Formats: sequence, C-alpha cells, structure tokens
Amino acid sequence: MLQHLREQVLEANLELVRKGLVLFTFGNASGISREEGLVVIKPSGVPYEDMKSEHLVVTDMTGKVVEGKLRPSSDLPTHLVLYEAFPEIGGIAHTHSEYATSWAQARKPIPCFGTTHADYFHGPVPVTSEMTDEEIAGDYEKNTGHAIVRCLQRHGAGTTPGVLVANHGPFAWGKDAASAAHNAVILEAVARMAYFTLGINAAAQPVGRGLHDKHYLRKHGAAAYYGQPKDSK
Ligand SMILES: [Zn+2]
Repeated sequence: MLQHLREQVLEANLELVRKGLVLFTFGNASGISREEGLVVIKPSGVPYEDMKSEHLVVTDMTGKVVEGKLRPSSDLPTHLVLYEAFPEIGGIAHTHSEYATSWAQARKPIPCFGTTHADYFHGPVPVTSEMTDEEIAGDYEKNTGHAIVRCLQRHGAGTTPGVLVANHGPFAWGKDAASAAHNAVILEAVARMAYFTLGINAAAQPVGRGLHDKHYLRKHGAAAYYGQPKDSK
C-alpha cells in the first residue's frame, strides 16, 4: 500500500540523518496521500540504519494504523493536527537538530540576518508559546500541534515552512516529504548562521524589509521568477 509514498518518506527520514540533523532515533518525517486520506510515518524507536520502507506505518487521519506491524512515531498526533489545519502541506519533518533546538530552548525567534533565511522564511522563524501544564498532562502530542497552529495563525500561515516549538525543537513542512526534509535542513542552517552572526556582532540587525521581501517574493510571491519555468526543459 502506498509504496511510492513509503519510499519518499523513508528517503526523507534518511536525508535528515545524512545531513546530521538526527541524534539516535530522535526525529521523524511523514508524508500524506490527500486522495486516500492516509499518512505514512516513521515507526517509533527503530534505528535509522535498519529502517526499510516496509517498517513505515500507514495510518488514517485519526491515527488508526491501517498498515504496518510497528507502532508509529509518538509524534504522529502532532503531524495529524498540522495536516488537518494546513491542506496545502504534503510532508512534515521534525528533528532535534542542535542549533534550531538551541533557539527553541532559548524561546527566541530566529531573526532574518540574510538572504539564505529570506529565500525561505518571510520574517523571523517563529517560536510557539509555552504549553500549559494542562496541555502537557493532557493530549501532549496533539496539543503540540495546536500550539504550532496557533503560532502560525499569529505569524501568517504560508509564510514560513517551519517553526520552533518552545523548549522542544523544530518542525518543518513542505509540499511533500522531501521538501519537508529540505526545509528542516535549511532551518538548521539558518539557525546556525544566525547564532554565528550574533557571535561575531551581538548588535547585528536583521536585513532590511526591501532585501527580505526581494528574496522571499522572487521565490514565493505572485510574480515569482527564481528557478526555471515549469514547462522548460
Ligand atoms: Zn521531538
């Protein structure tokens, strides 16, 4: 079932490891088939080096396992809340990559200091609000998803391919699992560069609106012109 999606999601999970974003089994990537309403996600606790596409777990939108012998990643409910809230996303990647997680732990949004950041994020990378004790004691993973949704509603959904969950780490997404993994890698790079920028000059200021808009909008705006036209060879 969903063999192509399984391969894509496996590849996205392995990409997070190749790019050094994953410690042990932390982190997970998933992808969704919107037509079938089914999600493919990494199994819980399986070492990446042993992971095969048949180990991935297929669930419906309520989290019920439809295919797979292993338990899905414990973060599945977070992924489901995001898929439900944002119909345009097709893949999600979560890691505890060190620089992005450090910003999340400091509960500081990552300022946009340059064009690498501006190419992907229209504004600082936002941080979710702290979760309440009730939210943590209750349906924790689902409430993590709700915290992300609230954060995006505040900052403008669709203008950021990732956020920092306060005291936890980054979640990134994209049109499919591969682009979610790509955005998780970019988010880590942006977090790292911002950290170094402030190390070199603690008074460094974010890029001006003009440069920020120029870079973001040439890739993502209504009149985007970066890259090749879709029908070009
Ligand atoms: Zn986590």
